[in-house]
Amino acid sequence: MARLSARGLLAALAVALAAPVFAAAPARVSPTRPAAPLLWPTARFADADYVDAREIAERYGLKIAREKGGQVLRFTEGAKVRLVLEDHNRDFYFDGLRVFLGRPALGARGTLWVSKLDVIKLLAPLLRPRDHARLLPAAAPQTIVLDAGHGGTDPGKENRTVGVNEKTLALDVVLRLKKLLEAQGWRVLLTRSGDTRLAADQITDLRRRAEFANQHRADLFLSVHFNSAPAPITGVETYTMAPQFMLSTADDRKDEMTDKAFPGNKHDDANLLLGEQLHRALLAGLQTPDRGFKRGRLHVLRFIACPGALVECAYLSSDAEARRAATPEFREQIARALADGLKKYSAALEALRPQSGASAPAAPPPSNSPPPARPARSA
Ligand SMILES: [Zn+2]
Repeated sequence: MARLSARGLLAALAVALAAPVFAAAPARVSPTRPAAPLLWPTARFADADYVDAREIAERYGLKIAREKGGQVLRFTEGAKVRLVLEDHNRDFYFDGLRVFLGRPALGARGTLWVSKLDVIKLLAPLLRPRDHARLLPAAAPQTIVLDAGHGGTDPGKENRTVGVNEKTLALDVVLRLKKLLEAQGWRVLLTRSGDTRLAADQITDLRRRAEFANQHRADLFLSVHFNSAPAPITGVETYTMAPQFMLSTADDRKDEMTDKAFPGNKHDDANLLLGEQLHRALLAGLQTPDRGFKRGRLHVLRFIACPGALVECAYLSSDAEARRAATPEFREQIARALADGLKKYSAALEALRPQSGASAPAAPPPSNSPPPARPARSA
């Protein structure tokens, strides 16, 4: 079977990604502004292309401070710490938020390296969302589909000591969130409003939740879950769809899904913005440990035609956290935090929207930015 090498795939990707930049350049680059470099310089390590951390700092006007003999790099902008990267680690901190890379940062040649895919799909859009504004939805979301995880014969995670299960808690949070959002003028639809599931088998059930959002032309999809782990941990996790070619946070090697583009990848940039805002809001609202903003090829996110995220609000495997989740006060806090995150996502879209009447977008896109998921809006 003919199979493109990883290098071949990345080269093809680089060409595909660079092309629209070339095509758009004459109309977009203002004469007084130097054109953005068209490619990130890379070095090859193992089976991937990597970008030197110093290159990232230079591109975004950040200063680097080395710690632990250079194993940790702190990128600052004035007094503010924007990024913290650590050798061998997949998690990094962006404006204080714990985010996961597709591949660990790599120490070599006296510096740290970040995989080019992570730079293009994570660091660049996080650091300069405005450069990616044309890839975001044209209008603020109005219709949201809320998805309470599990239901019916599938209880999800359980804590029998405390006497709670995921399906009941998730539905309660979703019903609370629905009220809050409707009061703010959103149109809210639920994949389930009772103790039911959408199909007898799990894959069909998850697929139907995504189809429900698509059928109702949702602008946004949010799936609410509760977590469980064998380790004694607590806190929140937020997931968005893993971009094509990027490893899911749970994986350390490619599988048959990794190189596929799913409908849920059409909004990678909006997913990133949404996940970031939801995760920040949950941490601020719940004052709970940061388990990270992660990526996964989750069934329920693969086939949605709109931006979407899945949140894991607390660990039911922890008796302490399960007891907290058992209280209506905590579930109301979760709902308020999620409503706040959605509001901030919406506000971020508005703020990033190119000004009306401006035929010139805010800034020329950075090198290697992916092609637009939909045609650029006209105003
Ligand atoms: Zn679940």
